[in-house]
Amino acid sequence: MADDGALKVNDHLQVHGFSNVFAVGDCANLQEPKLAYHAGLHASVAVTNIINSLSGKQLTSYHTGNITMLLAMGRDDGVGQFNGFRLPRWLVAVGKSRDLLLWKSWREMQQKQPC
Ligand SMILES: Cc1cc2nc3c(=O)[nH]c(=O)nc-3n(C[C@H](O)[C@H](O)[C@H](O)COP(=O)(O)OP(=O)(O)OC[C@H]3O[C@@H](n4cnc5c(N)ncnc54)[C@H](O)[C@@H]3O)c2cc1C
Repeated sequence: MADDGALKVNDHLQVHGFSNVFAVGDCANLQEPKLAYHAGLHASVAVTNIINSLSGKQLTSYHTGNITMLLAMGRDDGVGQFNGFRLPRWLVAVGKSRDLLLWKSWREMQQKQPC
C-alpha cells in the first residue's frame, strides 16, 4: 500500500506483488483526480488485461489522458473542460446538467430507462 492507504499498481493496474490481482477506481494509487469517469477507463484496461493474461497475450497499459470534467450546477448551468479546453456553460448544461448522464448508465447496464 501507498502511504495514503491506496493500493500500489503498475501500468497494467496489477497490484504490486500480484500478477492476478488488479485495482481500479479510487483505491488505485494513480496520480490523477479520483473520478468515476477514470474508474470506467481503469475497468476497461483491467478487463482487457485479465482476458489477455488468461490467453497469454501482452498486457495493455493505462495512462491518464487529458482531464475531462463536467460539473453540473443545477439543471440549467454548469462548467467544464474537455481535453484541456474550457466548455461553454450552456453546452455543459445541455450535455450533463439536465439528466446527469443517467442515459449512459442505463446504456452500459443494457437496460431501458423507465419513462
Ligand atoms: C461529491 C462527489 C461528487 C463527485 N462527482 C463526480 C463526477 O461528477 N464525475 C466523476 O467522474 N466522478 C465524481 N466523483 C468521484 C466518484 O464518485 C468516484 O471516483 C467513484 O465513485 C469511485 O468509484 P469506486 O468504485 O472506485 O469507489 P466507490 O464508489 O467509493 O465504491 C467503493 C464501495 O466500497 C464499499 N466499501 C468500502 N469498504 C468496504 C468494505 N470493507 N467491505 C465492503 N464494501 C466496502 C463502499 O461502501 C463503496 O460502496 C464524485 C465524488 C464525490 C464525493
